[in-house]
Amino acid sequence: MFFDRDGVLNEDRGYTHRIEDLRWMPGAREAVRAVNHSGRFAFVVTNQAGVARGLYREAAILAFHDEMQRRLADIGARIDEYAYCPHHPDGIVAAFSQHCSCRKPEPGMILALLSRWPVDPQASMLIGDRDSDIAAAKAAGIAARLYRGGDLRSYIDPPEGTAQPPACLRPLQPPRRR
Ligand SMILES: [Mg+2]
Ligand SMILES: [Zn+2]
Repeated sequence: MFFDRDGVLNEDRGYTHRIEDLRWMPGAREAVRAVNHSGRFAFVVTNQAGVARGLYREAAILAFHDEMQRRLADIGARIDEYAYCPHHPDGIVAAFSQHCSCRKPEPGMILALLSRWPVDPQASMLIGDRDSDIAAAKAAGIAARLYRGGDLRSYIDPPEGTAQPPACLRPLQPPRRR
């Protein structure tokens, strides 16, 4: 499962990058945990043009993601990898001011994750809150859903706890006494 970040997992406050501005969307952490428990990977794919625009540094993104990961861990959830694009063609920071293949609606971040992880594109889905998210998913050949607010957990199937763990993870029956 691929999640857009701002506006899907956390409130989009416009170039959100301060840890104190991290506010989860309803059911967001539970949605990530449901993906974890279903045996699928959970990824973040986020445009972070604020770096190219000189509003914050790349280190702020990493710190923000570290904090997300810490707070996800509080409920036993995790993101398997955070992918971000720091670029923008109209940036003011030279190193990041470029057209790139990772800024959504381009599919670069999704394709990179698909190549790095053993993921079946046919079984993959992206949840985003903008048309550019949906376009990136389409360009990468995966399904997409437009999230319009509300409980994110309800976007995730199957419901948590319904998936049977594989046999090797089920508790062994104690040997019967004769
Ligand atoms: Mg968004
Ligand atoms: Zn990029």
